[in-house]
Amino acid sequence: MRSEYLNALLEAYLEINPSEILSGQVPDEWKALSSFPLEGEPTKVVLKHPISSKEKELTETTHILAEGKTDIIKKIVSDFSLSAQSIEEFARFWNELPEKLQEFYRGRIENLKKEGKLDASIDSDTLAQELVHFPADPLMPDHDWLSRLDIYATIKAAEKTGAKLYLLRFKISPVQGFIGNARTERDLWAGSHMLGYLTYQAISEIWHEYGPQAVIFPHLRGQPFFEFEIGLLEDKDELEIANIPNKVLAIIPVWEGESLEELKGRIESRIIRELKGIFNAAWDFYEINFEKKNIYEKTVEKYFTITIELIPFEEVKPVFGKLLKDYLTTLGQKASMSTYYSELFTILDQLTDFRSREFEKVKQPEGFKCILCGEHVAIGGDVLEYSELRMKWEDLRKNLNSRGIYDIKSGERLCPLCLAKRFYPRFYALWKAEDVKSACDEQLGRKAKEYFEDKILNVKSFESVSEVAMKKLTRKAVKLWRESKLYVSDGSLKRPITWYDIFIDLLEPTRSEYGGAVLKPEGTSADSFLETLMKLRTAVLPLFKKLSPNIEVLYKENLRTLDSLAKIYGLNSNELMERGIDDEVRTNILEAIRNLEESIGEPPKYYALLKMDGDNMGKVISGTKAVKPLKEYSLTGDAPDVHRPITPTAHIAITRSLSKFAVEKVPKLSKEHHAELIYAGGDDVFALVPTDQAIPLAYELQKEFRKDWEGFDYLQGSTRSMSAGILAIYYKEPLYSAIRKVNELEHLAKESGRNALAIGYLTHSGNYYVVIVNWRIFGNDVVYDLLRSFTNERENMKEKISTRFLYEILNGVDKWPNEPDAIIQLLRYELMRHSNLSEEIIRKKLAEILWIARNVRIKLSREDLSSLKIENADAKTISSAIEEVIVDDPEKEEPSDTPDSIIQDTDKLENLWFNAITRKLEKKGISKDSARRISALVLKRQVKGAAILIKILREMGVGA
Ligand SMILES: [Zn+2]
Repeated sequence: MRSEYLNALLEAYLEINPSEILSGQVPDEWKALSSFPLEGEPTKVVLKHPISSKEKELTETTHILAEGKTDIIKKIVSDFSLSAQSIEEFARFWNELPEKLQEFYRGRIENLKKEGKLDASIDSDTLAQELVHFPADPLMPDHDWLSRLDIYATIKAAEKTGAKLYLLRFKISPVQGFIGNARTERDLWAGSHMLGYLTYQAISEIWHEYGPQAVIFPHLRGQPFFEFEIGLLEDKDELEIANIPNKVLAIIPVWEGESLEELKGRIESRIIRELKGIFNAAWDFYEINFEKKNIYEKTVEKYFTITIELIPFEEVKPVFGKLLKDYLTTLGQKASMSTYYSELFTILDQLTDFRSREFEKVKQPEGFKCILCGEHVAIGGDVLEYSELRMKWEDLRKNLNSRGIYDIKSGERLCPLCLAKRFYPRFYALWKAEDVKSACDEQLGRKAKEYFEDKILNVKSFESVSEVAMKKLTRKAVKLWRESKLYVSDGSLKRPITWYDIFIDLLEPTRSEYGGAVLKPEGTSADSFLETLMKLRTAVLPLFKKLSPNIEVLYKENLRTLDSLAKIYGLNSNELMERGIDDEVRTNILEAIRNLEESIGEPPKYYALLKMDGDNMGKVISGTKAVKPLKEYSLTGDAPDVHRPITPTAHIAITRSLSKFAVEKVPKLSKEHHAELIYAGGDDVFALVPTDQAIPLAYELQKEFRKDWEGFDYLQGSTRSMSAGILAIYYKEPLYSAIRKVNELEHLAKESGRNALAIGYLTHSGNYYVVIVNWRIFGNDVVYDLLRSFTNERENMKEKISTRFLYEILNGVDKWPNEPDAIIQLLRYELMRHSNLSEEIIRKKLAEILWIARNVRIKLSREDLSSLKIENADAKTISSAIEEVIVDDPEKEEPSDTPDSIIQDTDKLENLWFNAITRKLEKKGISKDSARRISALVLKRQVKGAAILIKILREMGVGA
């Protein structure tokens, strides 16, 4: 970074403070960054959420204002100072700015209180915080002053040093392909982390040159990768999840005579150098002795498309959208270059996407493909005969095994990229331990050998899908816990025992320093449980010691024969016997597991994948969606009724909140729900979750995302939403196909109108159940209450509904008449037939089922309409009428019906939602008779959806 630029930045950061903002004594450049500069004096101090406009009052400051003591604020905030000799020093200052200010203000406040100049009743912490989060413009308080300061300083420093500002967009692709090609959790993590690491290289290049404030998305303050680089990261485990999205946005100065191409080249070559570094180290570490390494190096170099586009940050006259045109007209003379930001951003974003698609795929040489990605030729695959290729890879694997390395499995042949991905966790361990600074370290390969062969370092351990699956609570274990017969204590919390607990306990004796049992069961049945557990411990020990611990040994299906046991280790029964594992070991384990199953039930075999992201993110960022009229962001409502496009300062405010979500909220909630988080960047989340926790986790995440204020921080706000896909799947299904399926589910949720959850359940026998629902189903106890009413045990029918009911609905509802009243009557009849509930309870259960049905998303196809003999009607009109009633849109008013209102309305069916659909359709010109048949079909589909949902939730063990 140029030193004059650094000095100008520093100066700008000290130029503004809350006292000057309050008195209106700020430079015109500062004022120009307001969404709508207004004249006047504030009577109170508030913040408005940058998206939802929900208000947050700064009470202590308002109090001081009311007493007319604004001069006191000046005494608190003036003379804050700082200095930095280098960009690294500046980066550290910038990262800690809010804490440093807080500390400084607090000290001043305490002193003023002691001197009697400030009311003793004022809370020092709160007042200090209010000043740190002070609005950048008290009359148009849609963002705080620190968010504006970042843009202001960049603009001022550029002006002072004679630079022109540019918007820079960076994108690395392909993402889905690179991450999705995974056989194991380790591959999955490595793919997404490696992408995050590489993208961060571009970010690092940018901030070293232009300062961390230049990077708008992702916001860098508090980002673990950034804090790690500047030496401020306290908890290195925060590096585990790459919180870096694959797109970057920055505002940078360009000085005269500087070449944009040179900058692009620098970013690109840094990424390629890192990537090649990982590949070369992998080659050395695995001692690969194939020929023509340089050719494979080329494949690595060409794999990623790195798109960097820049456009000047100045007044442009492109084709303005209506939104921006209205806004500019209203602003009149007050328009500044930041007003054009949304237009510039949109153009740049489209340009980047367009350019990244332009790149041609590198022509692949002919040969045997990599078995991981199926895309590239495997190393050696272009020159060797098949048998020779197989043998060479088999030799390589054996050689690695003899060194105690199991990264490559039997039968695997990898391309250079997938090889780099396999090695990546080792690079990560060295990088995290700060034994290498980057993958460009020439000693990387050598260090990897030293550190891992001598076991100085361990590779990050990954929870396998079966380990995640076994964290699910079994019904039997829950029952024992409820009856205080068997449980474990985590601190003061008592919880049921899981099969995962048992596995962890079994690992202990395999460690060199055996510390005794890990699992300490309590309760009246603890002793007998422990006795059985001891038998399992003894039985598995030879296997775990001589081979390695593997949780899949706990599934009986893998203990049927010695061969099936050998298979989970990638061996055959002879190889197993050579290692001293014979049929006696197998039967001992089997016996012990059978006994344990008697007490806590079978080990769960399904796990869930969760994939979710924010809805309409692109539109929110470009300002065309979910943004309110100016008057709602103003203090007094005294501003034009015209929508505000996104400004750079509001954009920073939004990306700051995204960063808070990804860095703090997602990891915290994932941990609470025992999930293995793979990725959390911006609004994107990807995790492996025990099936009973997946829906509660997703529900909590979207609830958190939609929070307006949390103290002085904010999240995306109540006008926003998320959509998610959850797939429950058998542990033996290939991971890559599970990933593809959960991507499809997330897509289905979006397609259904967004703000939705699509749940899929793929059974081991190949049946696939899918249902899409509104989130609010999980916002109260109704669904859980209903779930508890179902039973599949004939003898235990007291106050229960037999699961036969679900079977009848799933297989029968399609044949029911297309008549809403008849459908409700049939539903009631089926409920009576399959339960022994009283009249009153039947009524309640019927309403509960209807409440769930009401929140099931469905769409009618053209075929559906023609099956109803509705030919000439406009399918689009019909869909939108249905959507208007059943889709829950956070930007509109919340639907007014509730579980209680549905209970009341089961006697007055005209009040129920499907009749609202009928009325809507009639208004749109559909005949009364047709409208009724359409809404009846909608109702039938929704009832079927409700039955599918209950079935899936029961299988997943939700609310058990
Ligand atoms: Zn590959």
